[in-house]
Amino acid sequence: MSPVKVPVTSDAARLLAQGFRFLRFPEPLETEFRSEQLTKLHVWNRLAIWLSACTVIGFAVVDHFVLSAEHSRITNIVRFGLHVPCVITMLVLTSERFYQRWYELGISIIAPAFGIGTVIMSAFSPPAEVPLVGARLLLASFFFCFMVGLRFRAATRANLIVFCALVVAYIADTMPGATATYLMALLFVANLIGLAGSYALEHANRTAFLEHRQLTEVATHDGLTTLLNRAAFEDQIRRVWQQAQRDRQTVSVIMIDIDCFKPYNDHYGHIAGDECLRRVSSALRDAARRRPLDFVARYGGEELVAVLYGADRAYGESISRSLLTAVRDLRIPHAKSAAQPYVTVSVGVVSVDAYRMASHDAAVALADEALYAAKNQGRDQFVCAEHAPSRPDATSNTILPLREAAGS
Ligand code: GH3
Ligand code: MG
Ligand code: MG
Repeated sequence: MSPVKVPVTSDAARLLAQGFRFLRFPEPLETEFRSEQLTKLHVWNRLAIWLSACTVIGFAVVDHFVLSAEHSRITNIVRFGLHVPCVITMLVLTSERFYQRWYELGISIIAPAFGIGTVIMSAFSPPAEVPLVGARLLLASFFFCFMVGLRFRAATRANLIVFCALVVAYIADTMPGATATYLMALLFVANLIGLAGSYALEHANRTAFLEHRQLTEVATHDGLTTLLNRAAFEDQIRRVWQQAQRDRQTVSVIMIDIDCFKPYNDHYGHIAGDECLRRVSSALRDAARRRPLDFVARYGGEELVAVLYGADRAYGESISRSLLTAVRDLRIPHAKSAAQPYVTVSVGVVSVDAYRMASHDAAVALADEALYAAKNQGRDQFVCAEHAPSRPDATSNTILPLREAAGS
């Protein structure tokens, strides 16, 4: 089976081929990836924060029974003055209201603060209890790497800060030297293991994101022209139509067909025909897409369609004129054309108030009729179809033949 053609412009395909070992995509992909991850992990992150709340309470109980009274004062100050507020803040940040905007920033500040609190707890423990309390640092390290949705860089930053705090505690001589050295070695190795796992996990998540995006692109774009394919066109125009009906907006539908393309193929060959179709499509896309909601699709064969949101008749006509000019300006030689000695297109355009039509089908049919009128009138021109608003859903409308001089 031959490989599926992917649009050459696909950022996802390029990144998958190039690699992304620094775990960062160029914008706007990076923002999209982060937002998608955040959404995917919402329930998981909330569970993780609840788990950390249970851990804080659990250790409060264990400490009460296992550790000496001497240890409790500083521990409780850290527990109730830092750990509990950290957990409560994080729980608040997992609520719908704050999650998308504040969770990531919150966790990247709170995670190291929480870890520093644990270092303080162990640093002020009686010497015999330092290893017990210090062991929680390992839990924190793994928690930051895998549980709370920190990306690799943020997890590295948090773990580095906590490790530095431990080094400071060691230098300040708050712990027995041998125990502190051992604890640092343990934490260092735990960080290495955790961060290696975090890197692999994020890399796999990013790969899955790009692959999914690439699959979507293949499913919605035409491999030859990289324009939206017919199925994606139907999907997109339905959405644009609904939006235009809600906003009581005008939509222009423009059907475009390459003139005498069969003779072109017969004369220059199918591969040259493909290249011609690619160049014409690219020129049409550049000429038609001037506003964010406008789009161009391959309707079928050498027939393309442009949809312009909020475009009245004057704008639809002006873009139609630009489309003709854009293709003429390519000056692709066409010895067998009945219109010009170079490749040209014919264009049918209709501009309608979307709320006067139940669906886009009637508008597409009108634009198609106008296109064939343009063909009949000699090609290399546009014809504008008039929609009669008194007859909703009408398909049998008058077509006003607006001849465009070939050189205009
Ligand atoms: P008209 O000016 O009336 O549109 O004439 P035409 O020859 O362009 O129209 P017709 O519908 O007879 O021929 C369309 C041709 O477009 C036939 C088909 O081989 C060619 N075609 C459709 N899709 C492709 C494609 O992907 N690549 C190539 N090379 N040719 C294609
Ligand atoms: Mg044609
Ligand atoms: Mg055709």
